[in-house]
Amino acid sequence: MKRPREEWKPVQVPVIICRDMWERAQQKLASKGDHRRNVKDEYLMRRRLACTCGYAMQGRARKSRRADGDDTLYYRCSSQIGKLVKGKCNAPHFRVDDVDAEVWAQTKELLTNPTEVLRAYRTAQQQQQKQQSSLQEQIDIIDEQIAGYNAEIDNLLDARKGVTSDTLKKRYDAQADDLAVLIDRLTARRATLVQQVHDTTITDEHIAGVAEQLKDAHALVAEAEGNPQAQRKLIEFLNLRAVLRVDDAGEKWVDIKFILSVYPRRIAKKDSGSALRYGEERK
Ligand SMILES: [Zn+2]
Repeated sequence: MKRPREEWKPVQVPVIICRDMWERAQQKLASKGDHRRNVKDEYLMRRRLACTCGYAMQGRARKSRRADGDDTLYYRCSSQIGKLVKGKCNAPHFRVDDVDAEVWAQTKELLTNPTEVLRAYRTAQQQQQKQQSSLQEQIDIIDEQIAGYNAEIDNLLDARKGVTSDTLKKRYDAQADDLAVLIDRLTARRATLVQQVHDTTITDEHIAGVAEQLKDAHALVAEAEGNPQAQRKLIEFLNLRAVLRVDDAGEKWVDIKFILSVYPRRIAKKDSGSALRYGEERK
């Protein structure tokens, strides 16, 4: 049975950071001082967002028309930046504060709901097991093919023994060489598949480790409230990705991906006039 190549890709496992690493990161942040705000850190989903067209979403600031106003940050499709062969897509800009608010809300929901996180892991584990058996299927087919080609080579060599004509001998040799090339190719492909079987494993221990770490989650979430850098750390911890899209009714959505589970969230609508007021509210 043939399956699309994409299905063979290993399931992406979130990077697990241990409590020690987390604490060291926190200390590092504290020692630098909170006053040193990095603009890059204000994009919670920097390098983690895609457009429905497949291009990355990039953050950019738009200057306020008022001298004392805050710049407004937007995510926009990178196909709209520069000249691209594929052409620009017509995705609208998404306000960073609106998108990030939804992402942070989802992050909190996941971190404070271990049952959901473990469910997502189990789903991924089951998916992996399917992948593993698909990979194993491929390996079995290749083994059969290799055995078949080897048998053909044996037959050719047997037949070659019985002939005296040099022309015929050369023809047998050429056929055997062709088969040997095919066997080499299959052997290389087999090695890749075997490697993939080993690469793609979410173990029960892995899941138990995650469960253990989530015991601290409530405290981590509380510490990260109002601290974009700490929030970003937690997003990295969960390895969240997202796609920004607009539905048929014109509503904006952020589809947040955690391992193989997707959590769609509608982005709260704000009328354009409230843009500056919203900025001011953010202390
Ligand atoms: Zn796009």
